[in-house]
Amino acid sequence: MAFIDDLKKFGKNVAQKSSDVVETTKLNMSISQEKEKINRLYNEMGAAVYEQYKMGNDLGMSEQCSQIAEFEAKIEEYQNKILEIKNAVKCPQCGTEVSAETVFCAQCGTKIK
Ligand SMILES: [Zn+2]
Repeated sequence: MAFIDDLKKFGKNVAQKSSDVVETTKLNMSISQEKEKINRLYNEMGAAVYEQYKMGNDLGMSEQCSQIAEFEAKIEEYQNKILEIKNAVKCPQCGTEVSAETVFCAQCGTKIK
């Protein structure tokens, strides 16, 4: 019965294929997890290199580090604009956001103005 044999073979192939898909999906998830771990370490390495750059030690990534410095400056500029909009300032001592009208920081008591 060639037809039945073909049917059995087809069923086996479908089962095999679906277990292959499950296995492949698991392996791809494992790959993603390992890649995430690598990216976390890359991130740590980059942060360490940037810390060194800020302390004046050029570890050969000064181009990227100066770009990060530029981006940080932009972030600070944007944060300052937000403070302006909210009529707020940052406490120079503890960094707490307080109203620009505040005389003493509610958090640490530092004189604001
Ligand atoms: Zn404060």
